[in-house]
Amino acid sequence: MSDQRDKIQQAQQLRMQRFLMSVMLYGIWAAMTIVAKSLDMLQAPSAVLWALGLPVAVNVAVFWWLIRSGTNLRFKDPSMTFAQCSIGLTWVVLFMFCIPEWRDLQISVYLIVLMFGVFQMQAREFSMMAFMAFAGFVALNLVEFALDRNQRSFVAFLFQAGAVGSLLIWAAFFGNHVGSLRERLQRRNEELREVVAKVTHLAERDHLTQAFNRRSILETLGVLREGALRYSEVFSIVILDLDFFKQINDRFGHLTGDDVLTEFASRARSELRLLDEISPVVRARQLGRYGGEEFIIILPRTDLRGAMDCAERIRRSTVDHQFGQGLDVTVSAGVAQFSAGESIEDLLRRADDAMYQAKAAGRNTVSAAEHNQQVSAGSRSEVVRLADYQSDD
Ligand code: GH3
Ligand code: MG
Ligand code: MG
Repeated sequence: MSDQRDKIQQAQQLRMQRFLMSVMLYGIWAAMTIVAKSLDMLQAPSAVLWALGLPVAVNVAVFWWLIRSGTNLRFKDPSMTFAQCSIGLTWVVLFMFCIPEWRDLQISVYLIVLMFGVFQMQAREFSMMAFMAFAGFVALNLVEFALDRNQRSFVAFLFQAGAVGSLLIWAAFFGNHVGSLRERLQRRNEELREVVAKVTHLAERDHLTQAFNRRSILETLGVLREGALRYSEVFSIVILDLDFFKQINDRFGHLTGDDVLTEFASRARSELRLLDEISPVVRARQLGRYGGEEFIIILPRTDLRGAMDCAERIRRSTVDHQFGQGLDVTVSAGVAQFSAGESIEDLLRRADDAMYQAKAAGRNTVSAAEHNQQVSAGSRSEVVRLADYQSDD
């Protein structure tokens, strides 16, 4: 969830950077105009330049606000590249109309605007943009011919239009090429991400039940222990062992036994999910397969009483359920709350002992482990001291 938020934030940052680059271009253009006008190098009256400059400033402010407020995220293309580029091209044409002295710069400014499209636009959009630039160039010249303002001969215009057109066609090919490279890279990235997710899944799950495997459970317990020692956080574990499971295998076969294990894991998982709805604070509950027909549940921020409730819930749901072809299955559970200072091995041993007590008490039972007296939590300073001691070895 927060991963997704980080990704969106990073993308927004990139969009803002790209936008500021385009603002720099607008800034350079504005500075050039102001200097040229003050040196009396431009014929256009100041009022016309202001009439053009102000909407550009508004345009810049609107795009800035769209990105800043996140409103752009509602659009199909949040980068708004096509909109920004096509509006940019329109300003170029209008400026060229008002400042004929700079007409020679038109094609280079076109190419700079199109460069922004390379980052994001699809092949079709990029070609459309190049065509729009060409149409703008032709329209501008034709209007000037109509107003009798064009200083070129018509043949010179045709020649220039041919040159501009050819360059823009080249730009379109270039943009398409970069676009397809970009797409291929994105696809590779996605494939790679999928492979990594698959490998991670395989590495941390048990193939049969999809519960977390022993290694990954031990890893999680290690992390929780660190948190418990550093921030005095509470956590508990439950070890669950199916009763007389060997008999199920012997009577109904190994495959049925496998099905029972899978069904048990999925039921336990859904029980945990139900509990999550009751207490959304505790999110990271995990079910692991500890051994053949033994499972473990990790309950962060849960004390012994909470863990007992959880184990009892799973015990009851197991005994109430008919597995596979009407099989009655029961489970025995041992519950232990982490005592500050003890090792994960100690904690597991206590939960395991409690589980054997449940077996001894007739199975289909939940039993709690005694607090580990030798390493009892005590004061906060003691907790820290013990943590230091533990991390030294
Ligand atoms: P208890 O109530 O004391 O736990 O008795 P139990 O029969 O469940 O215990 P025991 O340890 O004697 O037998 C466990 C059985 O679980 C033996 C083993 O064949 C079976 N088992 C272990 N892993 C798997 C598995 O992946 N699939 C199947 N079908 N059976 C498994
Ligand atoms: Mg067992
Ligand atoms: Mg068993």
